[in-house]
Amino acid sequence: MLFTDVSSLLLPIIWSLAAVGIGLICGFFIGRVYAVSNQPKKLRRDREKTLEALVSVLNSAHQFNADVSQHKTALQSAETEIQNVSSTVGEFEDLQESVISTIRTIVQANQKMENDLVVSQYQLEATAQELDRSKKEARTDALCNIGNRKAVDETLQYLVSRYQSKKKPFGLMLIDIDHFKRINDTFGHESGDEVLVNVGRALKECVRPEDFVGRLGGDEFVLMLEGLTGSNAVAVGSRIRSTIELYNFSVGNKGESTVVTLSMGLAVISAGDDLKTLYKRADAALYRSKELGRNQLYTMIEDEGKSEPDKPDNSPFASYEEFKASFDE
Ligand code: GH3
Ligand code: MG
Repeated sequence: MLFTDVSSLLLPIIWSLAAVGIGLICGFFIGRVYAVSNQPKKLRRDREKTLEALVSVLNSAHQFNADVSQHKTALQSAETEIQNVSSTVGEFEDLQESVISTIRTIVQANQKMENDLVVSQYQLEATAQELDRSKKEARTDALCNIGNRKAVDETLQYLVSRYQSKKKPFGLMLIDIDHFKRINDTFGHESGDEVLVNVGRALKECVRPEDFVGRLGGDEFVLMLEGLTGSNAVAVGSRIRSTIELYNFSVGNKGESTVVTLSMGLAVISAGDDLKTLYKRADAALYRSKELGRNQLYTMIEDEGKSEPDKPDNSPFASYEEFKASFDE
């Protein structure tokens, strides 16, 4: 009876050891996937799969940890029961000692396994966090801390396909800083970088959190404005231009500041548009706004025949703060 109980306890332990082995093999392959998955095309899919696998391994580890604790408790109570058998004599006494010693060895091995599991679980969680961080970094412009070119491409692709399937409109705005070379030449490249950072920050401040702000590279930025239609495009564009005009672009640490103006081209998605036609229209709008004298927004609402320039006008607001406050009205 006693031996039947002990052998029935050994079975789950063998299973537990096999499960640890499987966990370690999974860990090895996850590590491999992470190390070799930096080909740009497959990177996103691979990371997502890896994260899913990690979550599933973490769940198994939690369950396994609970199982190990349960087996340890069962073994310890078996040991107590054997010790309490008082009628053992002669050869049975040797047998009793041998069983107790075996159980103690198993309990110790179990304890070690439990500790190792806690360490593995911690390492898995750290790996999952690291993956998340690198996933975000791969889509962030290192200088301005907004979306990078990759994020621009992916978001545009997503918004176009969402428009095609769900008819959710949006506007694509391409933005280029006017005479940025002069800023670099006058204040130095580092101050130029500072201006880029501040333009990114200002753009983020004058759109809603759900809108996309990115940098294509150099002095070119992109906005994707959700829910934008032909009827509200001009007002939103005008608001962004005024925000930038009133923003304080300080450079260096001597209290200097510079005037920054932007040329902007806006296209609102319409039926029949795909990624290329929409981008081409926004690009043509930006080109027109530079051509018409810079510091302005040129909007192409539907096709090239229907376009509307938004010339700079005198702002009714005395300060940037006053202007920002009008957002909530
Ligand atoms: P325009 O009004 O026609 O746009 O004139 P522009 O002087 O702004 O001309 P352009 O847009 O072609 O100039 C972009 C300049 O941006 C050229 C390049 O030296 C500078 N630039 C590109 N990347 C960076 C960067 O990361 N930091 C800084 N400081 N300058 C950059
Ligand atoms: Mg420029």
